[in-house]
Amino acid sequence: MAREIHHFINGKAFEGSSGRWGDVFDPNTGEVQARVQFATEAEVAKAVAIAEAAQPAWAAVNPQRRARVMFKFKQLLEENMDELARMLASEHGKVVADAKGDVQRGLEVIEFACGIPHLLKGDYTEGAGPGIDVYSMRQPLGVVAGITPFNFPAMIPMWMFGVAIACGNAFILKPSEKDPSVPVRLAELMLEAGLPEGILNVVHGDKVAVDAILTHPDIKAVSFVGSSDIAQHVYSTGTAHGKRVQAMGGAKNHGIILPDADMDQVVKDLVGSAYGSAGERCMALPVAVPVGDDTAEKLIDKLMPEIEKLKPGHSTDPDAAYGPVVTAAHKAKIEQYIQMGVEEGAKLLVDGRGFELQGHEKGFFIGPSLFDRVTPQMRTYQEEIFGPVLQIVRARDLEEAARLPSEHQYGNGVAIFTRNGLAAREFAAKVNVGMVGINVPIPVPVAYHTFGGWKRSAFGDTNQHGPEGVKFFTKIKTVTQRWPTGEVADQAFVIPTMQ
Ligand code: NAD
Repeated sequence: MAREIHHFINGKAFEGSSGRWGDVFDPNTGEVQARVQFATEAEVAKAVAIAEAAQPAWAAVNPQRRARVMFKFKQLLEENMDELARMLASEHGKVVADAKGDVQRGLEVIEFACGIPHLLKGDYTEGAGPGIDVYSMRQPLGVVAGITPFNFPAMIPMWMFGVAIACGNAFILKPSEKDPSVPVRLAELMLEAGLPEGILNVVHGDKVAVDAILTHPDIKAVSFVGSSDIAQHVYSTGTAHGKRVQAMGGAKNHGIILPDADMDQVVKDLVGSAYGSAGERCMALPVAVPVGDDTAEKLIDKLMPEIEKLKPGHSTDPDAAYGPVVTAAHKAKIEQYIQMGVEEGAKLLVDGRGFELQGHEKGFFIGPSLFDRVTPQMRTYQEEIFGPVLQIVRARDLEEAARLPSEHQYGNGVAIFTRNGLAAREFAAKVNVGMVGINVPIPVPVAYHTFGGWKRSAFGDTNQHGPEGVKFFTKIKTVTQRWPTGEVADQAFVIPTMQ
């Protein structure tokens, strides 16, 4: 019998009764290692009711004490890092060192959340009028929810619940059904850190659970990260039900290489960012745009031997560059895109299909692929592949190169490689993309800045974590006060002004 993964509600495992389950694979072996329960609408409602009952007391805990739970949780993450990374790698497929990075980037948001007393301080104006003071405060929303993708099962839940809970909210997490164990473990560790029961609840499931969250009247805000069509559904349904929604979607990030770039460094950066984590990162760099044919030839000459050296391997193999992809279905989708690229007329320089890892022939492994002569008209360029496939689109000049990311349907991240500061500065100012790297291939902002793309990479108007996260998970209240002096002011029939 496969291990069973249950919901986590009110501080303990909760066995649902939907009778619906999802398979959780070990992508290294291709075997089903566990099955995860899918929630019914009523089970989501039960979690919300428990969260709703627990939230006022948590909001009343002073911010310094809430921060102490975060400090303790950070310590527990550090102590449990190895266990978390191994668990994560065994369900996701990324290598253990990269899984530690996944936990670490989430931990850094928890570090940010440790500063919540300072972050929640409001504004105060003394003497805004005669004897009148004005002050504002940020208050939690109540019960809020997060719906997360498979590719960062530690970092992305922490982007959301770290900030939301520190602000005094109760949280319902609906993690990806493909790798649900780490999110449950995080909730257990939060409890161990001193979080009261009912403040962080995990419900597993599919569209039924997601739609139950989007339509539940007592959930005040929903933060989502996943693919764009689902992000759009989440945004439109959630907002139609009166909620605040931020919904991050897919990506197709470009790396523009100017002729003066340090080509040896560019090649290292491209290989890491295109193939690391088997390309299953929303900030991967799957499109290289060399400017000029000479640059393209130089790039390919240096790239080919590096790609040939790349060895996919078991998640626990410290020498593996990257592990298997998450499911057999995802592997098949990536291979279909490679075939489509060939049929569209792109030049397949390295073909990763048919790769088998000895001893793990049923694992979801796929070798690195490289395409040259990809054009903007091709579907394989326009759509997100989310696999270890690097596409080269040649551009004549910087203007043509810069148009590519700016006009693409996605606008998550972009990078430019050059020694020309002025060109980089102008590019960063003008490009129609949310996050820019200058000689930095994966420009994921640090935790105290904010993360978010543009266009179909994000629906809504606030970014994840950092000050924008605090803004998203709180509402502002402004108080105008006057204390009686004994003098009676005249009644006023016109609106008071500062004239
Ligand atoms: P996904 O859209 O399939 O799933 C995301 C979440 O939505 C999961 O919890 C899933 O259970 C749920 N879901 C799936 N189908 C649904 C449906 N029909 N109705 C309602 N809910 C549904 O995404 P994924 O495959 O888990 O993750 C990969 C995607 O996430 C990629 O497109 C990647 O670019 C994107 N991503 C974006 C960011 C970002 O910040 N922009 C970060 C990480 C990943």
